[in-house]
Formats: sequence, C-alpha cells, structure tokens
Amino acid sequence: IKILAIESSCDETAAAVVENGRCVRSNIISSQIELHKLYGGVVPEIASRKHVEKVNFVVREALKEAGETLDSIDAIAVTYGPGLVGALLVGVAEAKALAFAKNKPLVGVHHIEGHICANYIEHPDLEPPFLCLVVSGGHTHLVDVKDYGKYEIIGCTRDDAAGEAFDKVARAIGLGYPGGPKIEALAREGNKDAIAFPRAKVSDSKMDFSFSGLKSSVLNYLNKCEMKGEEVNRADVAASFQEAVVDVLSSHGVEAAKELGYKKLAIAGGVASNGAFRAKMIERCKAAGIEFYYPSPIFCTDNAAMIGVCGYYDYMNGVRSGLDLNAVPGLKIGTRQG
Ligand code: ATP
Ligand code: MG
Ligand code: FE
Repeated sequence: IKILAIESSCDETAAAVVENGRCVRSNIISSQIELHKLYGGVVPEIASRKHVEKVNFVVREALKEAGETLDSIDAIAVTYGPGLVGALLVGVAEAKALAFAKNKPLVGVHHIEGHICANYIEHPDLEPPFLCLVVSGGHTHLVDVKDYGKYEIIGCTRDDAAGEAFDKVARAIGLGYPGGPKIEALAREGNKDAIAFPRAKVSDSKMDFSFSGLKSSVLNYLNKCEMKGEEVNRADVAASFQEAVVDVLSSHGVEAAKELGYKKLAIAGGVASNGAFRAKMIERCKAAGIEFYYPSPIFCTDNAAMIGVCGYYDYMNGVRSGLDLNAVPGLKIGTRQG
C-alpha cells in the first residue's frame, strides 16, 4: 500500500510517499523558517499563503522522488488537525482535490498521532503497546499507545509546552526564532550547572508537567542581572535552562513508564530532536531497564513522512474521510471529527 501524505499544520509545507507504513520512499519539506524569522514567530496569515504557493510543488517532488504518480498511489493522507486553521485548510483542500480528481481514498490524520508514528520509520521492531512522550511546539503529552490508532492521554502540561518554553526563553535572551535549535547550539558553550533553575513538579499529579514557572524563573534571573548591572552569560542561561527541561522531561517519562509497567518508551515532536534530551533519555532508560525509541531529527520536527505512516495504519483500520473533511484546529488525540 502506497500512501501520498500531505502536512501543512504550521510552518512546514510537506509531502511524502510512504509504502506499507514503514518505508519512506520520499520526504519533501519546504520550511518557512526564514520568512517567519523576520517577525520572531509564526505569522498565521503568511503561513497560509506560503502553503498555497508551495503545496503543489512539494506533492510533485514527493511523487517524482518516489518514482510514483497520482495513479500509482493507493490513498491520500492529510493532517486535518490540530494546528493553525488557515494552514491546515491548504493541505486539506489539496488532498481533497487530488482524492476527488483521481478517485482515491482520503484519510484525515491527527498531527500529534503522526509525530508518535514517526518512531515506526526507523524501528521496524517497534509495535504497540508502548508509552510515548510527545514534546513539540504546542504539546507536552504522555500518551499510552495501546494499539495502532488507539491512543490515551495519561498526562500533559498544565501551562506551556516544552517547545514553547524553548521558544520563549530564546526570545528573552535575544536568540530569536526558532528557539529550540538556537538554545541547543548556544548551550554547548555554557555550563549547565551554572544557574539552579527550578524543576517544576505538579503537586497533585506525577504524570503532568508545568513549564511556565521555569520560564518565569529565567525571566526573573535576567531582570535581576539587568537591575544589578551584571552582564548575563547567555550560554550559561541556555545550558542551565535546557538542563532543567531535559531533567524534568526524562525523569517524568521514565517514572511514568515504570509506574505503568511499560518496558518501551518513545519520544516524539520537535523537542525530541534535542541532543541533550536524547542523551539523558538513553542514560535514564538504560538505568531503568526500559527500551528507548526515538526518531532521527528530520522525523521529529514537522514532516509528511510521519503523516504517511500514521495514515497507513489508520487506512488499514478502515478509516476513510469524506470530501467534506474539514480542518479541526483543536482536534484531540485519539479522537476523530468530520
Ligand atoms: P505541534 O506539533 O505541537 O502542533 P509544532 O508542529 O509547531 O507544534 P514541532 O514542529 O513538532 O512543533 O516542533 C517545533 C518545536 O520544537 C519548537 O518549539 C522548537 O523550538 C522545538 N525544537 C526544535 N528543535 C529543537 C531542539 N533542537 N531543541 C529543543 N527544541 C527544539
Ligand atoms: Mg515548524
Ligand atoms: Fe508538530
């Protein structure tokens, strides 16, 4: 089964061809980072317009690179939520038009379920059930992957997502957008033990996260330095902040897996591409006797290959979307709409 997948939920216009759920035949990503950099973050209206410009191109390239045509593929998968409504609509409209013109089945895919499924690409042995820590720009979720297409949220952030904290702290120390990779690069030159930022715990739950306290603590530290006229060592701030995030994420993830009796733990989403986070997870999972899975960085940040993988398993589960498929900006994990 060959799936053509389309992704346009945020600021990447992407298309891919995935065969039998695990084999990525092509993976084309047109990033808008350079464009949004000028504004310090993603501007929804600009994102939508750029998707319109790029979507036909990435689809054509994905088919070409895979040596396929619209006639030779079996189904079309597309992200229909969550994300920016105007951005999502571009991919959804494209997928519907192609499905209608070529009379191919259409499968609406959940973006975060796609992030989770990125783990299947390079781990042919990985099968549900397993626990997945999703850490992206908009989500910090512990997801119980019970089966293909069967997800249950067992914990989430009470305030900011991990990626959002990276982006906000990056802005505060003048690194600009996108924050994650810039903080990671600067952190390599700093001392992670220089500043003791708090490891936030949510008092009434072991499974939930909170990052706004850490963010405020960084902002307070910067303000205090400014008031005292002290120069800020930005590399130390980056390294200490990153260490605090990575420490909380990894200890929570491993504790949750132990508590629920899971022997397999995966990570997903843009923050999962962070080298310090991956290293800490490898170390802590090994110590706990838990099998650890993570995608290559290119499959952690937004891409269409992961949508093709998820779309394949949804397709095999009998999921078919109608030509009335709509974008659902607030789509919940493990649910279907439209
Ligand atoms: P969501 O998937 O929740 O809808 P999104 O699609 O915008 O949000 P992703 O593309 O999965 O998010 O990830 C982008 C986020 O990952 C950004 O917040 C970015 O700062 C963060 N990120 C990317 N690379 C790194 C890195 N190397 N270290 C830390 N964070 C990173
Ligand atoms: Mg992005
Ligand atoms: Fe994403």
